[in-house]
Amino acid sequence: MTWDDEYDVVVAGSGAGALTGALAAASRGLRTAVLEKTGLLGGTSAYSGAAIWLPGTRVQERAGIGDSTEAARAYLRAVLGDGGAAHREAFLATAPELVEFLERDPALEFEFRPFPDYFDAPGRLRGGRSFVPLDLPVERLGELAGLVRPPVGRDRAGRGHPARPVAQGRALIGRLLLALTATGGAEIRTGTALTELVVRDGRVAGVLAVTADGPVRLRAARGVLLAAGGFESSAALRAEHGVPGGADRTMAPDGANTGDAIAAAVRIGASTALLDQAWFCPGLRTPDGRPAFTLGFRGGLIVDGSGRRFGNESLPYDRMGRLLARAGGPFHLIFDARSGGLPAISVPPLVPDEQLASGRWVRAGTLAELARRIGLPEDALTGTVERFNGFAEKGSDDDFHRGEDPYDRYFSGGGTCLVAVDEPPYYAAEVVLSDLGTKGGLRTDPDGRVLDGSGRPLPGLYAAGNTSASFTGPRYPGPGIPIGSAMAFAYRAVQDMRKNPVDQSGTPE
Ligand SMILES: Cc1cc2nc3c(=O)[nH]c(=O)nc-3n(C[C@H](O)[C@H](O)[C@H](O)COP(=O)(O)OP(=O)(O)OC[C@H]3O[C@@H](n4cnc5c(N)ncnc54)[C@H](O)[C@@H]3O)c2cc1C
Repeated sequence: MTWDDEYDVVVAGSGAGALTGALAAASRGLRTAVLEKTGLLGGTSAYSGAAIWLPGTRVQERAGIGDSTEAARAYLRAVLGDGGAAHREAFLATAPELVEFLERDPALEFEFRPFPDYFDAPGRLRGGRSFVPLDLPVERLGELAGLVRPPVGRDRAGRGHPARPVAQGRALIGRLLLALTATGGAEIRTGTALTELVVRDGRVAGVLAVTADGPVRLRAARGVLLAAGGFESSAALRAEHGVPGGADRTMAPDGANTGDAIAAAVRIGASTALLDQAWFCPGLRTPDGRPAFTLGFRGGLIVDGSGRRFGNESLPYDRMGRLLARAGGPFHLIFDARSGGLPAISVPPLVPDEQLASGRWVRAGTLAELARRIGLPEDALTGTVERFNGFAEKGSDDDFHRGEDPYDRYFSGGGTCLVAVDEPPYYAAEVVLSDLGTKGGLRTDPDGRVLDGSGRPLPGLYAAGNTSASFTGPRYPGPGIPIGSAMAFAYRAVQDMRKNPVDQSGTPE
């Protein structure tokens, strides 16, 4: 077989993990290709808040929050148990080194941002331990600005970036791209979808990809890193593996993450795990039916199809999502005029008039009328709200303990999130089970090496982010774990690739 282009490292995908891996490779002089299926870079990572859960690093030290690897270990052990200890230790050991590596580049600047960890467990920090990239003036991105995927609402509507600094996930992707392009050693190929892995002499030697101009064969002398997201946008794969929710309800960019990289690896003998899992969240339906990721309920209550509450609405979103998956829908958020709009944060932000005009929100003068209009039993809904209002009055939720955990109160500034719903007009907003991506995928070892069915690494093949089975299993320990772990394992993968033998076409270091 002849190659169309030859690289040391080929990275599939362009999210935070992919670009971290590419940067780790290119900054060490390895010829690196980033393949992105769509015309835009950043995937779901670009939509994200870019909270990064990498504990015990110089960022937390600068902020003086007293984080340490030991405290983070205690927390992860308490939340995840002892399974996956090797991955946990690899992750913890890598976090400080990775952040030091990243911050050596002037393009990469981070700051601590308080956001509580998601479980009441030993080692938890009140203000959490995650950090975010600094906003980036759009001019600094130059021509790259047009390539970074815009915020989710604008992207879905086909609009570009707002005329102000790029922030959050866009800032993370933009900053990683600035650092990557400055190495001069990376080629970024948009509109290039990995389809197959090429095995030669018992190791992954390259990839086949499709472009608008036809297929290309790309050599990877050191290794291939698969960081091409999960399969959240494939209805067929979701059904096959029993992932609750739906391809039309995921927050990932439309049609991007359809499990291509996982399937290509499985075809050459890779094994998989956790395939029924996702990073779940509640979603409020927007006028076009797609979800808005909703978190931080500081008022209102959520009822199921019988008009009853079924859990603590203020739980961290993955935990609330898992309750939605278990309870029978349809679900509605019930709130009133007191909250002056949605008593929660939604991404993208929702415009009440548009929500009402589209029928995704319903407004009524009484709870009974609201119940009739959304098809719930009147007595059940009014009874549920009365009981909830009683809890609000006495300041404790006997049913689901809402407001007892500091996370619950974080979004109401430390004050109560148990607020009576008794000021008409009343509103009902349609709630669905959504997700931020699937989290089951290729089994890897702690160096990101993809494993076969017998637990042996497939030489030359690595995976990170949602293409790999997350070491967190069915738990979401804290804000920024998806991105932090994607970055850490992509970095480790490239460290390992540097040890791989290469023939004369590979770049010696
Ligand atoms: C609104 C929102 C806020 C969030 N906030 C946070 C947060 O603050 N912190 C956090 O940790 N997580 C957050 N998440 C979750 C997080 O963004 C994702 O779980 C994570 O970014 C997934 O990273 P990834 O690299 O696996 O996939 P992605 O970032 O989705 O990247 C995958 C890329 O691969 C490309 N691709 C797919 N198939 C192919 C192929 N065959 N060939 C080449 N390219 C391909 C896709 O087009 C895509 O660009 C948030 C998610 C959302 C939606």
